[in-house]
Amino acid sequence: MTISQPIEPSFRDSVDIMFNRAVALMDLSPGLEEKIRVCNATYTVRFGVRLRGAIHTFTGYRSVHSEHMEPVKGGIRYALNVHQDEVEALAALMTYKCALVEVPYGGSKGGLCIDPRAWDEHEMEQITRRFAYELIKRDMINPAQNVPAPDMGTGEREMAWIADQYARMNTTDINARACVTGKPLNAGGIAGRVEATGRGVQFALREFFRHPEDVAAAHLSGSLDGKRVIVQGLGNVGYHAAKFLSEEDGCKIVGIIERDGALISDTGLDVEAVKAWIAKHGGVTGYPDAQHHADGAAVLEAECDILIPAALEGVINLGNAARISAPLIVEAANGPITAGGDEILRAKGAVIIPDMFANAGGVTVSYFEWVKNLSHIRFGRMERRAEESRHQMLISELERLSADKGLGWTLSPGFKTEYLRGAGELELVRSGLDDTMRTAYQAMREVWHGRDDVHDLRMAAYLVSIGRVASSYRAKGL
Ligand code: NAD
Repeated sequence: MTISQPIEPSFRDSVDIMFNRAVALMDLSPGLEEKIRVCNATYTVRFGVRLRGAIHTFTGYRSVHSEHMEPVKGGIRYALNVHQDEVEALAALMTYKCALVEVPYGGSKGGLCIDPRAWDEHEMEQITRRFAYELIKRDMINPAQNVPAPDMGTGEREMAWIADQYARMNTTDINARACVTGKPLNAGGIAGRVEATGRGVQFALREFFRHPEDVAAAHLSGSLDGKRVIVQGLGNVGYHAAKFLSEEDGCKIVGIIERDGALISDTGLDVEAVKAWIAKHGGVTGYPDAQHHADGAAVLEAECDILIPAALEGVINLGNAARISAPLIVEAANGPITAGGDEILRAKGAVIIPDMFANAGGVTVSYFEWVKNLSHIRFGRMERRAEESRHQMLISELERLSADKGLGWTLSPGFKTEYLRGAGELELVRSGLDDTMRTAYQAMREVWHGRDDVHDLRMAAYLVSIGRVASSYRAKGL
């Protein structure tokens, strides 16, 4: 007799399984359900670039999941294992993510099959410009239609090349800079974009811990202070999340998992020092102040309060979900838990803060950057000094009253400096991001606690976002 083993669904199928679980609880017409679920279009491009004396052919994708709002938005990933199924799954997640955090975009995603570490900078520039050229000429990069951003393997550098390539091909487009987000500050970027996704993870956790009932559901108590955290992937998202949680919220980073193994320390790892070590040595191996485990993936199962997978998809799956001990998992990466893994973890009583919410900080600040580019003015430029002079008036009046009445009040110099300082772009961006994350969490938890048929945050997130996408389609008469 053979016992059939459950089969791990693909990333795309995992997203569909979760989507189907949610729509089963909704009252959508079957036609609309299908319209929302399917990916509208995926463009595959194969292009050649002459490098090192030979022509090298690269394969890239740009997928558009939903155009209920335009432009559509989503990062461009550079990795060897990029493929259509993955890009489409990520594009679908972008649709739901944007709807959940109320940024007015449809979902899209792009990818290029490449190992970015195998090429030097000027070669990467040639490849990126050529990929961008192929997408731009088909309006798959365009400020009004499709606006990419960084993802795994790409960052400010690639976004600056893409923006410049678009400007060269559209010399009279006054909004050219809004064709891509995640650009460097001196090329039309916005303060706080590089840190945004990790910052969003921090804001997501802070909001979660403001609700003792939710914290108790994860079998935890108290605040973030002292919580033991394991992070997988010390790249853009993982590094910033670990840094902010340890420096500002008192969390202890007891594990960092990277490509070449994991570091463990009960007393807590110094995130900056580990990051500097990786930058110098290419991995965590040899880092002096911690235990090294060659089998990094096994450390996902180690004891901790909060597990933050921030590297790649599918790392918690049918094979290891039962052994995961963290009671609270924050999906900083996209799709780190497969549908099968999700089911096992839910049955065990773990609480999962889902990707479409947890890592939405990136697209939220990208939205601010796009608005900044379209308005051609830095946030805070008009208001900052006016705000400072109004604060100065109040302080002067308080000091005058104190002197007149002989009260002897003095404001501490620290308070005075802080209070007087008007908000610059970075403060405004962080405030907008914090507000976005809190509001979205509250929308999810209302459904989580308000409906008898919803038992987890992921389902709640899907219900909120699919509901919004459906309303948008209905408003168009579909
Ligand atoms: P990144 O390329 O900056 O970092 C990825 C990190 O993961 C690197 O440090 C890499 O060495 C590590 N890594 C790769 N394979 C690993 C493995 N097998 N085990 C452990 N570590 C491994 O990428 P990123 O931008 O930080 O993106 C990470 C995840 O977050 C992705 O799922 C991405 O889609 C998602 N995300 C990113 C953003 C963003 O703004 N960058 C926004 C939303 C979601």
